Amino acid sequence: MNEYKDIWVFAEQREQRLMNVSLEILGEARKLADKKGVKACAVLVGYGVKGLADELIKYGADVVYVIDNPLLKNYTTEGYAKVIADLANEIKPEVILYGATYIGRDLAPRIASRLHTGLTADCTGLDIDENGLLLQIRPAFGGNLIATIICPERRPQMATVRPGVMKKAPKDEKRKGEIIEIQANIKEGDIRTQIFDIIKEAKSKVNIEEADIIVSGGRGVGGAEGFKLIQQLADALGGVVGASRAAVDAGWISSDHQVGQTGKTVRPKLYVACGISGAIQHIAGMGNAKTIVAINKNPDAPIFKVADYGIVGDLFKVIPALIEEIKRIKNNEMA
Ligand SMILES: Cc1cc2nc3c(=O)[nH]c(=O)nc-3n(C[C@H](O)[C@H](O)[C@H](O)COP(=O)(O)OP(=O)(O)OC[C@H]3O[C@@H](n4cnc5c(N)ncnc54)[C@H](O)[C@@H]3O)c2cc1C
Repeated sequence: MNEYKDIWVFAEQREQRLMNVSLEILGEARKLADKKGVKACAVLVGYGVKGLADELIKYGADVVYVIDNPLLKNYTTEGYAKVIADLANEIKPEVILYGATYIGRDLAPRIASRLHTGLTADCTGLDIDENGLLLQIRPAFGGNLIATIICPERRPQMATVRPGVMKKAPKDEKRKGEIIEIQANIKEGDIRTQIFDIIKEAKSKVNIEEADIIVSGGRGVGGAEGFKLIQQLADALGGVVGASRAAVDAGWISSDHQVGQTGKTVRPKLYVACGISGAIQHIAGMGNAKTIVAINKNPDAPIFKVADYGIVGDLFKVIPALIEEIKRIKNNEMA
């Protein structure tokens, strides 16, 4: 176990641009490495990505391992898992951290399995204990408690970390570090997935995290069709559309609208919850809104406990009436 040292961060890049979360984790890795007296290292994988190594050094890496190969141009689970696991077997890091992105969540378990070690997903905090072990901190049991997880018997200790919870270190233009180029031991046959084309999802027009007014729909909206009504109310108020996880899981609206523990944390001036029961995981994402209005046909729905204004009724009757009233007020103002 003693031969394992240093803290590695998987420096995730897409189209030769570093993901913010990788720099955030690097900032944290820097602190942990200083606490342990070891190096913070970044592992940069891709094709034509060497130019990003300097940026990683400026954000806190002592060493950047660059694995640059045409076969690694696009992310594939097998390709990336192979080259990173090979490197970890050779150099033996004590810790490897990944962003909890789609790629990080796909890659880290595969590497954990290849290295026969553990993995804690979705950490919101990291620390080093008095024995030098990595403390992997994350909400558990639906957010009702915070668990601290350790991996005392296997190496490397591995975790994925949620985007947005760690802080990037300030960029230090003068920082120096070492760039080590690694020859990838990889051939076409190692990757069974072939990528023919990458089609990007159209970016959502809104960023609900920055909106002042959010009208959110839940299971009570009844389907994708019902979200048109939510959109109409949002338009009337000059706001954007949010959603509960139940609505997202049902496929009625895309996940970038999800508010809550596993969605986005929002802090608008006005949050209108329509057909949302008010589960603790939803409230975790919107409880800090300045004014909360809830529309729900069940007077005992928990959402009314956090709402400033509650309307008990069928949203399909209440929302059209609200829209009418908003239009009437606006027309009067213009007259
Ligand atoms: C680990 C974990 C993470 C989670 N993360 C999230 C998260 O990020 N965000 C999130 O939202 N949830 C999250 N959840 C799920 C959460 O526990 C709830 O299941 C979810 O929030 C319920 O969504 P909902 O309120 O839309 O649906 P429901 O709980 O089914 O509530 C629907 C509500 O609509 C009302 N209603 C029905 N018809 C009408 C009508 N016509 N008019 C008015 N009201 C009506 C009902 O009275 C009911 O209160 C998570 C759960 C777990 C375990």
